[in-house]
Amino acid sequence: MLGSISGRTLLQPRSLGDALRMLRDEGPLTPLAGCTDLYVSLNFGTLKETRFLNLWGLDALRTIEVRRDLLTIGALATHTELIRSRLVQKRLPMLAAAAREVGGAQIQNRGTIGGNVANGSPAGDTLPVLAAADAVVVLQSARGARRVLFNEFYTSYRQNVRRTDELIVAFEIPAVRGPQWFRKVGTRAAQAISKIVMAGVGGDVPRIALGSVAPTVIRARQTEAVLAGGGSVEDAQRALIDELAPIDDIRSTAEYRRRVAVNLLATFITTR
Ligand SMILES: Cc1cc2nc3c(=O)[nH]c(=O)nc-3n(C[C@H](O)[C@H](O)[C@H](O)COP(=O)(O)OP(=O)(O)OC[C@H]3O[C@@H](n4cnc5c(N)ncnc54)[C@H](O)[C@@H]3O)c2cc1C
Repeated sequence: MLGSISGRTLLQPRSLGDALRMLRDEGPLTPLAGCTDLYVSLNFGTLKETRFLNLWGLDALRTIEVRRDLLTIGALATHTELIRSRLVQKRLPMLAAAAREVGGAQIQNRGTIGGNVANGSPAGDTLPVLAAADAVVVLQSARGARRVLFNEFYTSYRQNVRRTDELIVAFEIPAVRGPQWFRKVGTRAAQAISKIVMAGVGGDVPRIALGSVAPTVIRARQTEAVLAGGGSVEDAQRALIDELAPIDDIRSTAEYRRRVAVNLLATFITTR
């Protein structure tokens, strides 16, 4: 391991209120949830931060429930909890499908939806689902809570609108009408980061989101408009190409990502 834990501090809040006060009074602090992403940075020697706030014990952030017809998922819900949740299976099966594709069992048991979103990798598997489902991110500080549309949460590559005194505490997802669809294309079934990931909601007003094709997860609004207007598969594929900005990296080439994206779109359109 290249990084070391010596010289680093871990604060242990006993409640959400405690955690928010620590963020306000003892910051800057880096929130730590399942630690599956943070530990990779530590291992590679790229973890610059020295002061951490351990959220893992805050069970209040782990609940999954329906409030005012919104599926409300606590930020600390793990991928395993998403897979097992009856509410997620019933109301947002594409999220359970995405969680099933994250890493292996160990990562699913520790990795959280809040960590996946806050980490902000464009390849994060839950991100296209939240984008296609028009989710809302609930951010809380000692001053109170505010809500941000998931589709407005990211500002650029791995950057988002969360302030340093805020935590992501939950995601609110309105009822989704229409069949849900999720596909991940990676090197192998388990433990592989996506080369392309796509989530979609079918029906008369389709919703389509993709990851690993641009600096942030994208909603393919032009493609959606073409489909809603009765456009053909080919019309939609042409629109989608214009909405993608993939790069070549160690996992894939931009050209491969473009081709897979339009193929996935064709499958989505014919099966929705
Ligand atoms: C072997 C391996 C395989 C993996 N495979 C996949 C995969 O297939 N698909 C995939 O999408 N990801 C994968 N990951 C990445 C990772 O497991 C997920 O992103 C996971 O959901 C991160 O959650 P965490 O709770 O462990 O985050 P942490 O590592 O604890 O935190 C990640 C980031 O989020 C911030 N953060 C965490 N919680 C909050 C919060 N509530 N509010 C504000 N900021 C917060 C932290 O400060 C940190 O910057 C893999 C990782 C490993 C090591």
